[in-house]
Amino acid sequence: MQTQRLRIAIQKKGRLSKECQNLLKQCGVKFNLVGERLVVHAENMPIDLLLVRDDDIPGLIMDGVVDLGVIGENELEEVGLERSALGEPSEYQKLRRLDFGGCRLSIAIDKDETYSGPQDLQGKRIATTYPQLVKRYMDEQGVTFSPCMLNGSVEVAPRAGLADAICDLVSTGATLEANGLKEVEVILRSKAVLIQRNGEFSAEKQALIERLLTRMQGVIQAKE
Ligand code: ATP
Ligand code: ZN
Repeated sequence: MQTQRLRIAIQKKGRLSKECQNLLKQCGVKFNLVGERLVVHAENMPIDLLLVRDDDIPGLIMDGVVDLGVIGENELEEVGLERSALGEPSEYQKLRRLDFGGCRLSIAIDKDETYSGPQDLQGKRIATTYPQLVKRYMDEQGVTFSPCMLNGSVEVAPRAGLADAICDLVSTGATLEANGLKEVEVILRSKAVLIQRNGEFSAEKQALIERLLTRMQGVIQAKE
């Protein structure tokens, strides 16, 4: 069901939400986030914001349910790989990389263990929230491993005896250090990106998207 209004999915609460809301505001989109509303109408443009868990954003775009979304590349690529493995639609267009949400997806092991390269991970159990991205990387390296899927507390898995290594998002490395781990491989460098669903858009929506992109360009350049 397509609406006249441009639908943009953004993270409701988390590391991307504040900067994403600020970016839209700086692009001139006026809105008022009150309470627990899922859909918020912009006051001055035909735009509806959908406030959801970040995990849901790639699927909403790939199923064509929303027009635009802001999401971390890590999540976008993981969901894309998972959906294509399942034969589900996994297409989208990347409109632009944004200047926030920077992090890396890295493999870490016990800080006291020696490490000389990916072959040292052969046969190890790796705890992660990103099994598809880990598998892609390990396949490229020709190394086999066992996955241990965790949606949280990944960094405590080695100490808890659940896994030999982890693959998790890192920004400063403080969490790894606090858990007695060291970063040994970076498998993805990620930022937030603006994505668009595939398919046709009305002339009005297309024009609005172009206007938003031009403004975004200006806002991001002004900060550089
Ligand atoms: P949700 O409740 O929406 O599912 P979440 O807990 O999965 O939220 P957040 O921790 O808010 O997600 O992270 C959202 C995104 O922020 C990540 O997927 C990643 O792209 C980006 N990010 C930037 N820095 C970090 C970091 N240090 N740790 C985790 N994510 C980071
Ligand atoms: Zn999430």
